[in-house]
Amino acid sequence: MVTIKTKKDIEILRRGGKRLAAILQAVAYEVKPGVTTDYLNTFAQKLIEAGGDTSAFLNYQPKGANRPYPASLCVSINDEVVHGIPNEKPRKLKEGDVVSLDLGLIHKKLITDHATTVGVGKISPEAQKLLEVTKKALEIGIAAAKPGQRTGDIGHAIETYVRKFGFGIIEELAGHGVGYAVHEDPFVPNYGNAGEGVVLKPGMVIAIEPMCTLGSPAVKIARDGYTFKTKDKSLAAHFEHTIVITETGAEILTQI
Ligand code: MG
Repeated sequence: MVTIKTKKDIEILRRGGKRLAAILQAVAYEVKPGVTTDYLNTFAQKLIEAGGDTSAFLNYQPKGANRPYPASLCVSINDEVVHGIPNEKPRKLKEGDVVSLDLGLIHKKLITDHATTVGVGKISPEAQKLLEVTKKALEIGIAAAKPGQRTGDIGHAIETYVRKFGFGIIEELAGHGVGYAVHEDPFVPNYGNAGEGVVLKPGMVIAIEPMCTLGSPAVKIARDGYTFKTKDKSLAAHFEHTIVITETGAEILTQI
């Protein structure tokens, strides 16, 4: 069911989104060679607690998962696309790695979702291009999110842009409604046909999250039951914002 948030809800989501953006930026600044994934998770958890909030991911059990997610933050390195677990088998970041950081925040019972991908030290020109294009794809998706448009218009805009660069677009994973729960309707794919899907209305809150690869877009789930990896081991990038549909367009909630 697609929910419409009240003005009061949106104000809380706006405040939570600002907090989330500040936390994720602070975590991203900690990304450097030698830092462990476990450290990033603990660092994020401390910042969340300092604000009196809760991670939306810790102990969250998505449909199909056989156990709750064990960490506050998702840290996905190189060929890992999303949902990398930072604290079970902590790893040290290396120069040249590409790291996706994904965090959901519960502020006054309402949830925002936000992700960014950063390089560790100096990264390859191909990796840099992948990050730039995926980030821009998110902006293009957000620009297509307007009342009266449909979820397919967002996916179509993202796909049309990313295809120009020959990068893979992951299809199994997509954006989603968010706010009262981590994953709500509608499904917001990063590909598709304009004019298809759910009609966007003011007060709808959705996460848009393109995931692109340097190679094939095919993915598999690792043995931990959570980490999505590219089948061909190609590099992946992921950027995500939570937005609210307004009377005239969209407002990004997860920004400082
Ligand atoms: Mg999300």
